[in-house]
Amino acid sequence: MHSHTLLIMATILLCIVTTVIAVMWYFNRRIPGLGNWGLSYLSGFALCLVLLSHGRLPEPVFVAASQTLTFLVAYLNLAGARAYVGRTPLPRHRVGGALAGLVALSLYFTIGHAHPAARFALLSLVSGILFLFSARTLATGSIGRYPARYLFALASSTHGLFLLVRPVLFSPGSTGLFDATSTLTVSQFVVLESIVALMLMAFGALMLANEHSAAELRRLAERDPLTDVFNRRSFMNLFDKALSQGARNGQSVAVLLIDLDHFKAINDSVGHKGGDAALRHFVRTAVSTLRNEDVIGRLGGEEFAILLAGTGLDDALATAERVRAAIEENRLQRAGATIALTASIGVVSSRRNDSADAMLDRADQAMYAAKHSGRNRVETLDAEPALRLIEHAA
Ligand code: GH3
Ligand code: MG
Ligand code: MG
Repeated sequence: MHSHTLLIMATILLCIVTTVIAVMWYFNRRIPGLGNWGLSYLSGFALCLVLLSHGRLPEPVFVAASQTLTFLVAYLNLAGARAYVGRTPLPRHRVGGALAGLVALSLYFTIGHAHPAARFALLSLVSGILFLFSARTLATGSIGRYPARYLFALASSTHGLFLLVRPVLFSPGSTGLFDATSTLTVSQFVVLESIVALMLMAFGALMLANEHSAAELRRLAERDPLTDVFNRRSFMNLFDKALSQGARNGQSVAVLLIDLDHFKAINDSVGHKGGDAALRHFVRTAVSTLRNEDVIGRLGGEEFAILLAGTGLDDALATAERVRAAIEENRLQRAGATIALTASIGVVSSRRNDSADAMLDRADQAMYAAKHSGRNRVETLDAEPALRLIEHAA
């Protein structure tokens, strides 16, 4: 196939892909990266149009436009990857500086010291590195959970590597990439490879958009919107799972049931918004005292539970005491006021054939025992009498 025909094909495909991604972006603006990827494909489409008009444009204009657009394809692809994984955009002055340097050097190799091979190598190097960075950026998280990221990363890194070796494979004079007058004629293979890579990445981008929406839905279903911890239903699911896993491994599971003290009074003094802020503050403080694998959920209102897998009663009591002390010590400063929070905590650890509901019932009784003996304390019904009451250092 003639490279001109291939270029026309690439133009049509890029036009279609750009439109699909633009429509997807229009209806899903909250998906990060999609806008950048749309612009990357739009630059690719514009690049095809510029390449097709080769010969009709003055050479310096052609070179500046095609180098700029090729750079933009690769840079916007990277910008999309960074946005998708929540990283900050690259500093504008650096990106602008890199582009200006690339265009200046390319023009030098066109007008000053005509050397299309050097121009080609320079562009391949810069965009190859950008595509490799995109792959590196996206390949995070477990592959089973985020397969689309790895598909995209694979396409991006293969393309990046090809761009890096391309100047060596197609050295001037050896393959006919450059004709006798040293004017670049784009090799069919180069165009074909770009088409395949860009199509794979387009599928990757659409799969990533889908992955993002699915994760968002899962999050909405699993999390409490105010504090972002697990809601009651998903906490109970995780609790059931931890219990059956504990039964298999012969390990006990402990639960802390936490109720904030006199929360009505806090709402009355600082308002409902202040109360909400206090709930979020409680979660931040509690989480800071926990291990990564501990699970916290909001059972309702100002009542929370913490699941400690593979933990016996003594360790659970120590954790509860740490949480209690941290809540008491870390007061929330808000709008010039100090909000003092305390919590009453009931602690239980699993018995043989225990169920999540039965454990929560016992934890509830322990928590009420803590309320009755003065609040701001940790109680358990499960321990030996000597351990039953942990006095807080007051
Ligand atoms: P105790 O020490 O006995 O637990 O006293 P308390 O005032 O905390 O007890 P109670 O359960 O009677 O009151 C809980 C209060 O928590 C009542 C309710 O207005 C408040 N609350 C529940 N959910 C929210 C919420 O999402 N935001 C805010 N700001 N307040 C909430
Ligand atoms: Mg309460
Ligand atoms: Mg309550």
